Amino acid sequence: MIEKMLCQNSGTLLDAMKVINDNQKGAVFIVDEKNRICGIATDGDIRRFILEGHQLQEKIINLISKDYVCAKQGESEKEIFNKFEEKIRIVPIIDKNNEVVDYVEFRKDLHVPIISPDLIGNEFKYLIDAFLSTWISSTGEYITRFEKEFSNYIGSNHGLATANGTTALHLALMACGVAPGDEVIVPDLTFAATVNVVLHCQAKPVIVDIEKDSWGIDPKEIEKAVTSKTKAIIPVHLYGQPCNMNEIMLIAKKHKIFVIEDCAEAHGATYNGNKVGAIGTIGCFSFFGNKIITTGEGGMCVTNDAKIAEKMRVLRDHGMSQTRKYWHDEIGYNYRMTNLQAAIGVAQLERIDGIILARQRVEDLYRKTMADIEFIEFQNDDLPDRKKVTWLVSLLINQNNRDELITKLKEKRFDVRCFFISLSQMDIYKDFVFSNKNSKYISERGISLPSSINISEEIIMNIAEIIRKN
Ligand SMILES: *Cc1c(COP(=O)(O)O)cnc(C)c1O
Repeated sequence: MIEKMLCQNSGTLLDAMKVINDNQKGAVFIVDEKNRICGIATDGDIRRFILEGHQLQEKIINLISKDYVCAKQGESEKEIFNKFEEKIRIVPIIDKNNEVVDYVEFRKDLHVPIISPDLIGNEFKYLIDAFLSTWISSTGEYITRFEKEFSNYIGSNHGLATANGTTALHLALMACGVAPGDEVIVPDLTFAATVNVVLHCQAKPVIVDIEKDSWGIDPKEIEKAVTSKTKAIIPVHLYGQPCNMNEIMLIAKKHKIFVIEDCAEAHGATYNGNKVGAIGTIGCFSFFGNKIITTGEGGMCVTNDAKIAEKMRVLRDHGMSQTRKYWHDEIGYNYRMTNLQAAIGVAQLERIDGIILARQRVEDLYRKTMADIEFIEFQNDDLPDRKKVTWLVSLLINQNNRDELITKLKEKRFDVRCFFISLSQMDIYKDFVFSNKNSKYISERGISLPSSINISEEIIMNIAEIIRKN
């Protein structure tokens, strides 16, 4: 209601104070008889003016200065947003006749990202340290430390830092010897990188369905899809939930196939007390900016197999012999991480337990706040043998209006996400689909909510309210 923001320029300080008292916005727009903007006064301005000795019955027009900030009708949200400063929290919008038609208020939650990295520990300190050491490329103290400390954290003997999670997966497949003619079983519901790396090896992905309760690859479907050509399985611990690793490892053992865990979203999740990534042949992690811990871009392969680790090391570095410089035994890649990124990673790792706990608390708060909403179903956190971690707080909307709901939340600047679109729905992967019943169901219903660890309870309540009213 714009009227509540206005005070006539003929009015007094007292009139202006009454308007502010009424609108509770801490400010008032001073306008002439045609509602054309003359200036803005805040409660602080008026208070200071009175303390200088001015009287309540003085004209408000004596107080306002000429340099106020306003926005023109038709300016983009971004242009308006840029006008906000430390002391400018409210901006009137005027039309071409300078008439006040609306206003925008700055709120900290004006844009709530799906997730923002938490870099408040030693990240900056170590980054500067790495920078000043001049070891800014892919050799250095922090790389060595990050590989050692992260693999230690997961419970694996070897760690290989990579440029990103996708290159980690690609390295892992190559180290297992995945080549043209081979088949690799992947889940239908995942991020595209999982399947793309199989195609990068010119092998054939076999896309199978997921379990309805864990949203992870279904061991029964794996068993059905295994052939003599199957070389590897890539279980994806989706949205922080460990796959049914017991069954998967049994199948792998029986058929002598490799298990490459895609742990891009599940740092610290456990199955039977073991961290994911340390269960299969190789575990692959991502440290992209929105993952559980981050290095900006980055990834890591962990393994207990020394031979495979060695193979990945060579392939990561152009396929160059580790003992003879510029001698290449195979066609390799440059998939290295920089020491600068690793410096951030080391600092993130120092705080990983706290970060995981804080994420868990955000999810708990959402669950508590939304417990009364019947048509939603949070990700299962009660599966046997597993302890999931919270990547993005994720749930299903069990009625047919998920996309409208997403639009509504986005209009309020809450960056919510639909789930990954299951691979089988996309033309480029269609030929590789084995089964996809549950994946399509989950993919079409799922949403992920803003999950930064510093998100306020108020924002969570706002989001819950929009969903509730839907
Ligand atoms: C993020 C992600 C990747 C890829 O990691 P990048 O570091 O972005 O290359 C792979 N798989 C899954 C499931 C992911 O979520």
